[in-house]
Amino acid sequence: MAFFVGSLVIVEVILILQLIAARRIKTEISKSIQQMIIVGAEITLVVFLQTICTDEILSRALFGLYFCSTDWLMFIVGKFILLYTNNERYLRRFYYSFPLLIFDIFFLGLNIEHQFAFSVVKTDTLMGEFYKFVPGPLFQVHGVIIYCLVAFSLIVLAVKIVKAPFIYKKKFYFVFAVIMVIVGLNAVIMFVGDTLDFSVYGYAGGALLFYYFALNYIPGELINQTISAVSREAREGIIIFDEEVCTFANNAAMTFLKVEGDVLLGKSKEEIIKNYLDKESGITEDDMEFNYTDSDSSEPKYYKVSYHTLYDAKGEHIGGSLTIYDKTDEDKELREQIYLATHDTMTALYNREHFFTRAEEVLANDPDTKYVIIASDITRFRLVSDLFGEELADRVIIKISEELRNALPKEAIYGRLYSDRFAILLPKRLHDEKMLISIADSVNRVDKQYAYTIKMCFGVYEVVDRDLPVNVMCDRALGCITSIKEDYRKYVAYYSEESLESLKREQEIISELDDALENGDMTVFLQPIVKYDGTVVGAEALARWIHPVRGLISPGVFIPIFEKRNLIVKVDVYVWELACKILNRWVREGKDWFVSVNISTKDIYFVDVFDVFTRLVSKYSIPPEKLRIEITESAVAQDVKTVTELITRLQRIGFVVEIDDFGSGYSSLNMLKDFTADVLKIDMKFLSNADEDKRSKEILRSVISLAKNLGMVVITEGVETREQADFLEEHHCDLYQGYYYSKPVPEAEFIQKVDEIKNTI
Ligand code: C2E
Ligand code: CA
Ligand code: CA
Repeated sequence: MAFFVGSLVIVEVILILQLIAARRIKTEISKSIQQMIIVGAEITLVVFLQTICTDEILSRALFGLYFCSTDWLMFIVGKFILLYTNNERYLRRFYYSFPLLIFDIFFLGLNIEHQFAFSVVKTDTLMGEFYKFVPGPLFQVHGVIIYCLVAFSLIVLAVKIVKAPFIYKKKFYFVFAVIMVIVGLNAVIMFVGDTLDFSVYGYAGGALLFYYFALNYIPGELINQTISAVSREAREGIIIFDEEVCTFANNAAMTFLKVEGDVLLGKSKEEIIKNYLDKESGITEDDMEFNYTDSDSSEPKYYKVSYHTLYDAKGEHIGGSLTIYDKTDEDKELREQIYLATHDTMTALYNREHFFTRAEEVLANDPDTKYVIIASDITRFRLVSDLFGEELADRVIIKISEELRNALPKEAIYGRLYSDRFAILLPKRLHDEKMLISIADSVNRVDKQYAYTIKMCFGVYEVVDRDLPVNVMCDRALGCITSIKEDYRKYVAYYSEESLESLKREQEIISELDDALENGDMTVFLQPIVKYDGTVVGAEALARWIHPVRGLISPGVFIPIFEKRNLIVKVDVYVWELACKILNRWVREGKDWFVSVNISTKDIYFVDVFDVFTRLVSKYSIPPEKLRIEITESAVAQDVKTVTELITRLQRIGFVVEIDDFGSGYSSLNMLKDFTADVLKIDMKFLSNADEDKRSKEILRSVISLAKNLGMVVITEGVETREQADFLEEHHCDLYQGYYYSKPVPEAEFIQKVDEIKNTI
């Protein structure tokens, strides 16, 4: 008996520990298990008290409490079973059994007094002295209630066992068995009667087993089966190895490696990689990744293979996994995208950008071979689509691409630049004029039924300067076609030797610019601007390059080159600064002359012209109106909006803005409408023989009067004779500039000339 009482204490402690553990899990099912444990613990306590109880009435009460508790326990077990079998939806209906429990409580409560369900008698057995339970006539009332609850749980479980997939059946079998054992134990105790209530071990053990099955147990087999089911169907090939050999390969892996059945099983990782994935080196490494191309199939397949060594939680090697990923479709899509980005859709030749890139690559990688760039163009191609429709135009384009494909040697790189223009990069030794002529010939005869004859021509540029961008080479090749466009006998033009020479000179000039600016070889000459009576009012600053070897170079030579190569801004900013230095000196010496400087259109795109000028006048303390800014009419016409804005801002600060070379462009009169310059500068050179030609004189006269009506000051430049000056004076021209007064001269000479001019005129 002492042993039984002691064991009850131990059971109680275990249950309390279990309860603490179960509380960590916050699910409905865990809650019902906790309730089960609490009731189990309570029953154990009741059995404990009852065993040591020496009072008959109290013993009856404790037995009553014990029976009520078993009701509760079974009620909770029922609830647990519903949850455990995923039958939550029946919970509400199950709760309708609740009144039965209340009834049993009353029933067993009344029994304390009336003893109709059971009574207790003192017994003295080998186990010791205690009150034992003797069923009364109505004990079966409690019996029916409790067995109904038990039966309910067992039926729910049985149904679940029948329905559940095989792999899950096991966990329900266990629970079923546990309930059977508890109930069986209880029945035996009841039947024997003369013994201590060992069935309490069953309740406690049952609660523990439920706890384990419901909350902690996931059958290992289930895990394995789930994983292998998933991996078997996975899209990636998966091969698993233990420490030495392959233990599993999924369907995808076998398809990729073209094997069937158990062929891979038992083979080592090295063997599989070497024999099936064609890889020899590095295969003993722990982790690796490589690409494998299977070219044996009708369409090549591309795989990404990776091997990872697996370690357990303690860091011990337990095997490895090889995954094979089929990236054929991805690669294909990528290749298609690259293709689209680099090819012309209509002809499937390289597009412009890709042709340039490829040509640049070839030129860079093969510096010892001489190359030519050949560009093709069709004269009046636009007319083809205008007259005969897009369709014929497209046919011509496609025909060209076909001819190029057929005729060009494999060393040629070629593509479509745009519209009807194509370009070819070819080793010079393979260049063959006859081949080009025959291409042109087939293209020109593309559709005889149309009377209109197109003419395909080629321009050839020999790549002498490899540093030039390929697009510039193409421009040169295209540029020289102009010379033969209208000559029906010629199909091939060459970028000329002469222009090659001039190109070399350009190259030299460009390479010397920085030195010239640094050494002061670049300087300005001043050309006086005078009133009719010879009073000098200002000067135009004109760039001069005093070259140490070649002597004085005129801006007519170098300005256009620098403009073309976008270097003009270097010269201009330099000249503007020189002009400001001169003005600064003059202001300090009390000389009241202005200096006008030239700006080129390109300057506007390379520096903030407004910013440069305002900084300069402030740096050299010059009143802005002393610095005049000449901008040619054609520069304005190129980008009216930007230039107008700039000029307005400059004028607001006080700069005087002049329109240079007025009359040289086409939009002269029109531009005066949107544009308010302070000064209009007309060039005599544009009006040939103004002194003789009546019409020219008339135009000059009208322009002067127009400018004056618009409130502008008029300067005429290029005045070479007294007659011209007189004529202009007659028509109220304000200021004059020209060889008649003075050529552009260095500053010192300019100052000397001021009086000289005044005296001679
Ligand atoms: P431009 O601005 O029209 O300058 C006037 C040009 O006419 C100057 O030529 C000048 O020497 C020349 N000239 C002056 N009077 C006469 C004359 O009576 N008869 C003849 N036949 N010519 C005369 P230059 O100095 O050779 O300059 C040529 C062009 O170069 C200038 O034309 C201007 O457009 C440009 N240029 C000169 N210096 C600069 C500069 O610093 N920056 C920029 N962007 N362009 C400049
Ligand atoms: Ca000028
Ligand atoms: Ca001019």
